[in-house]
This record gives sequence, structure tokens and C-alpha cells, in this order.
Amino acid sequence: MPSNEPTARVTTQSRALQQRAARLLPGGVDSPVRAFLAVGGDPPFVTHAKGAYLWDADGNRYLDFFGSWGPMILGHAFEPVVEAIQQAAARGASFGASHAGEANLAELVTRCFPSIQKLRFVSSGTEACMSAIRLARGFTGRKFVVKFEGCYHGHADALLVKAGSGIATLGIPGSAGVPEETAMHTLALPYNDLTAVELAFENHPEQIACIILEPVVGNAGTIAPAPGFLSELRRLCTQHGALLIVDEVMTGFRLSLGGAQQMYGVQADITTLGKIVGGGLPCGVFGGRAEIMDYLAPLGPVYQAGTLSGNPLAMAAGIATLEHLIQHEGEVYGGLERVTAHIADGVASIAHAAGIPLTTNRVGSMFTWFFTDQPVTDFASAATSDTKAFARFHRAMLEAGVWLPPSQYEAAFISTAHRDVEIGLALDAARHALR
Ligand SMILES: *Cc1c(COP(=O)(O)O)cnc(C)c1O
Repeated sequence: MPSNEPTARVTTQSRALQQRAARLLPGGVDSPVRAFLAVGGDPPFVTHAKGAYLWDADGNRYLDFFGSWGPMILGHAFEPVVEAIQQAAARGASFGASHAGEANLAELVTRCFPSIQKLRFVSSGTEACMSAIRLARGFTGRKFVVKFEGCYHGHADALLVKAGSGIATLGIPGSAGVPEETAMHTLALPYNDLTAVELAFENHPEQIACIILEPVVGNAGTIAPAPGFLSELRRLCTQHGALLIVDEVMTGFRLSLGGAQQMYGVQADITTLGKIVGGGLPCGVFGGRAEIMDYLAPLGPVYQAGTLSGNPLAMAAGIATLEHLIQHEGEVYGGLERVTAHIADGVASIAHAAGIPLTTNRVGSMFTWFFTDQPVTDFASAATSDTKAFARFHRAMLEAGVWLPPSQYEAAFISTAHRDVEIGLALDAARHALR
């Protein structure tokens, strides 16, 4: 099978671009994971993308398994989205004033998410989560925030909290530059651990403003909620007067049109969205019950604003994306489930046959191959992975033309542009890489 044997990849242009970028941008990047430090090797510099593929400056083609970290559910440069952006650009890139696109996209979002009665657009998932926390604190008049170890909610100070050990442990900042005082009202608990949540409510009576979580974790690699975990969190929040913030920046429109809330039958008080909702342009959303959202300025006392919020190009891209997902719901989510299962399980059985310990976690079109023989149910079990083995696998897959997320602790994503040909490519590459 000579066609499946990867020839040594040329990386001359990418390496030169990386060196040039590194003189100007710290690490050569605008987001740390792009530097490939966890896996080693030269990060390819992308020239363009179409469908399921990316091309780099040396002319190498890669089958894309990270989809811009989630947004590209319809594949790259999807025609209706490209056209919508072009038409919007010709009408003006930004107005700093209200326009119909905001209400148009808001109508589509609220149709998909029954728990969102009102919402506000921002420019990133970070902003959405940061604003949701402020709103929850303003609405409840309480200070403490519960989050879970391994969940990422953007890089706002109060949410960048390292795994705390135990219930009573106050937050320890996970980054230099975050004062302890800023993070001391953030409680980080183990994911899927309801006892820890009950204890937190006991130890901080009427002080917990909200619980924020990834309903399916993607940012520690893929981890599913244990049966009953989400519904119990819902019950505990209601019982203790805290708000449940479901961070669907990754899962929204990906696991189903209505995200994880539809899939697991749970209702958030506040939902955060990003990634897919902007169709590849900078966009985030936080929304929820009207009585909560009306606490925002100009109606209420919680301040929040944005020069580029509700940007016309982002609204146009989001509308084109959501309209397609809504019109083709069955086909889209049925197809994603089928193709992703085929790829995730296919590689799992290749690894099994080769005697390589691999735990495959998958929910819909999100999945992770953990290089461990343990079940992965929280951050501690994810951390049993052999990250060196993952790094070798990543490099071998890249050589074979498949670009996985460059870290063990990130979910991979499939798009509707991934079809049977791409299943074949992925499994051939994995057969080669796992040898
Ligand atoms: C990506 C992500 C964020 C942050 O979004 P940005 O647009 O990168 O700021 C927040 N929460 C979750 C669950 C995410 O996956």
C-alpha cells in the first residue's frame, strides 16, 4: 500500500514563519497550545482550509481533528457561511449601534435553548463566562463560585483556579498575575463528585452564588458527566438558592442543537455559548432566565459592555451556521454520531490489537484517546495518561497527514465534512502511527 506510506513531511516554510513570529509574539503564538510544546515538533503554519482539511505553508495537507477548537462543525469555508460574511462585510464591518442581525441570531439561539429567555452577545467564550459569573454574583448577592477541576471557562482571573485539594480548600490561582484574593472565592471541586458539592454548600451556607461547569468536559480531554450528576447539581442549586451556569461554549450546537442541556435533559439558569455560535468569527453569548438577565445594565445594576459586541460579521456567520444546523438537524447530528463513532472506536480497536492501553471517551462528535488503561471520569484519572506516548502518537499522526489537538488534555472534533473517505484516512494513519 505505497499510497498510505507517508513521505517525510517538509516543514521549511512553517519553521521559518515560526521563527519570525517568535521574535514578535511570545512563543510565536496568540494562544499557548498552538506552540505545540506538549507534543514537540514544528507547528504547521496554515495558509488555508476547506472542508475537513488544512494546508500549511509547505503545501502539506492535513485532515483536521480540532476544527479551530470546535467552531467549524460544518467544515472550513462552508459556502453559505462564506457568502454571509462577504455580504455582511460589504455593508460595513462594525457600527457600534444596534442592528437586526443581533435579534435574528438571538431568536435562533433561544429557539435551540429553551432555558435562554434573554441573552447578550460578547466577543469570546472567556467574556461570556466572566460576565455570567458577575451576573450570578450580582443577582444572588453572594460571593463564592464553585467550579470543577479540569474544567476551563476562559482565562478570566476568578476562573483560572488550579485544582484545589478537598472541599474546604480555597482557590489557589493557576497563573502568575492572579492575586490570591481574586481567586479565594472560587472553590475547585473534583468533577462527578456530588459529595464534594454537598459539602461545599454545607461549609458555605448562603454564600455560593453559582456552580459553573462544562456539562461534558472537553478541556481535560473528553469526560462525560456520570448518570445523575447534572440533574443533582440542578437540584442542589435550586435547594440552596445558587445559580447553575452551564458552560456550553464547546458543547452548544455540537452535542445537539440544544447542546448538553437537550442531550441530558437539564435546564441552566445561565448558559454560556461561544465557538459554533459565531460560525468561526469572534462571538460569545451569555443568556438565561429573563429575571436574571434583566439585572444587566441598562436595566439593572450589573455592568457589562463591548465595543464589538454583536458584531455584524459575527452575527451573519452565526446565523448562516445555525440556520443550516436547524434545517438539517437530523442529518447533521446523525452523521456526526456515525462518523465519530467509527473513527473513535476504529482507532480504539487498532490500539487494542496492538496491545496499547487506550481509553476512548466520546460524546457525540467530541472525543479523546487517553493513553491509559484506567477509566477517565475526572481530572485525576485523566492525569494517569502517558502524555509522552500521546506526544509520539500526535507526531506520527501529523506525519501521516492527520492533525490532532496538540495536547492529551483537549477534545478532538469531527465536522460534517468528515465522511467515509476521511474515516479511511484516519484509520490508515492510526494503523501506521500505533505500530
Ligand atoms: C473555549 C472555551 C471557553 C473560552 O472561550 P474563548 O472563546 O477561547 O475565550 C470557555 N469555556 C469552554 C467550555 C470552552 O471550551
